Amino acid sequence: MTPAPDAAITYSDQQLAIQRLARQFTREEVAPGAADRDAGAGFDYALYGRVGDLGLPGTMFPEEVGGAGADFLSFCLVLEEIGRADIGLGWTLMVATMGVSSILSGGSAEQVERWMDSYIRPVIDGKATSATASTEPDAGSDTKRIKTRAVRDGDDWVLNGSKAFITNAGLDINAFTTVVCVTDEGRFQTIVVPRDAPGLGVAPPYRKMGLHSSDTREMVFDDCRVPAFNALAAEGDGRRRQVTEFFKARTMLASTAIGCHAESLDLAMTYARQRKAFNQRLVDFQYVQGHLVETALELELSRMMRDKTARLVDAGLPHGKEAAMTKWFCCEAAKRATDRCLQVFGGTGYMDEAPVSRYYRDIRAATIADGATEIQKYIVAREMGFFDPT
Ligand SMILES: Cc1cc2nc3c(=O)[nH]c(=O)nc-3n(C[C@H](O)[C@H](O)[C@H](O)COP(=O)(O)OP(=O)(O)OC[C@H]3O[C@@H](n4cnc5c(N)ncnc54)[C@H](O)[C@@H]3O)c2cc1C
Repeated sequence: MTPAPDAAITYSDQQLAIQRLARQFTREEVAPGAADRDAGAGFDYALYGRVGDLGLPGTMFPEEVGGAGADFLSFCLVLEEIGRADIGLGWTLMVATMGVSSILSGGSAEQVERWMDSYIRPVIDGKATSATASTEPDAGSDTKRIKTRAVRDGDDWVLNGSKAFITNAGLDINAFTTVVCVTDEGRFQTIVVPRDAPGLGVAPPYRKMGLHSSDTREMVFDDCRVPAFNALAAEGDGRRRQVTEFFKARTMLASTAIGCHAESLDLAMTYARQRKAFNQRLVDFQYVQGHLVETALELELSRMMRDKTARLVDAGLPHGKEAAMTKWFCCEAAKRATDRCLQVFGGTGYMDEAPVSRYYRDIRAATIADGATEIQKYIVAREMGFFDPT
């Protein structure tokens, strides 16, 4: 976990300080229990409390709402560090912040004020999480097929439908979920649904191939009633700002993948220096060096892309194409990295005790969730003007 020699010219003093804090926390508190959480211990509420104590959920939020007022790149560095030991914890944190970002970007001043003490500050303080629900059993990549219905009834919205694979949905501390619905007028509408909303059901956790430290569940809305007040902006600037938040989410998810990529490489380098075969160290074989240098090259490229996209976000410049490229490249590169590094470990790498076997399973979700690689390619093609999205 040694910092890259160019870190001082790549990042500002504040970014480096935040990175150091997250690195120390990951090394001392996240890494030690990661294997147990993977083996079945599941979500660790005390550990998430420590995430809050250190102020990590508030990294990129303004001081007026209780955040640290740092930039988006700083938060990406936090996610990268946590991703080195436990991608699932990184996803919990990333998704928790997305609900607050949606409210701050797509909510009215009245909504922000009303939800400051109940939703915004608790999430920023790490005492609560939020979830974001778009995917349905019959609608994932193709969001136009979303069927969860929201119908106005007096002063309420009444929701019916279900959402699949929702991160954080079943956590005891999950305060609310932003749910993408279709209104009776056929318009997409994001609605803030509190965890205790009548008619909201949350299924038991899915059994997943990895990311065992992260909570993933189906949500069911059966005449689920929430106040009309809970609808976020469905058009105009508020809607545009919410869409921009999706681009940020892609860059955040890519950051957790970069952490997993970097740690897999470090582990494989150490092992290849120690392990002997044919009277030589593994690292002396050119084929093994090939695995390591290809992984190192792609790590370098991933960080360059992620840093550029995050800087565009921080400068308020367009970044839709760059965010899609970053999500696509960094997640696919991390998947290749865990595969190569597991190969360097030989049979040891295939055993559950080897961290690299956990990384290999965990990273598999990164090229699917939050817009699969194939969909990111369409977004890039659209941004390059290859087809008219209308
Ligand atoms: C661990 C995990 C956590 C998740 N957390 C959340 C969450 O918090 N909130 C949420 O809303 N969702 C969440 N998801 C769901 C995730 O976003 C979807 O799985 C993803 O968008 C893909 O949708 P799908 O599974 O329905 O696959 P589909 O859309 O059915 O796609 C299946 C395959 O077909 C490909 N495909 C689809 N359309 C095309 C096309 N036009 N051209 C080429 N290929 C295509 C896809 O790329 C994919 O490879 C999570 C998923 C996982 C695995």
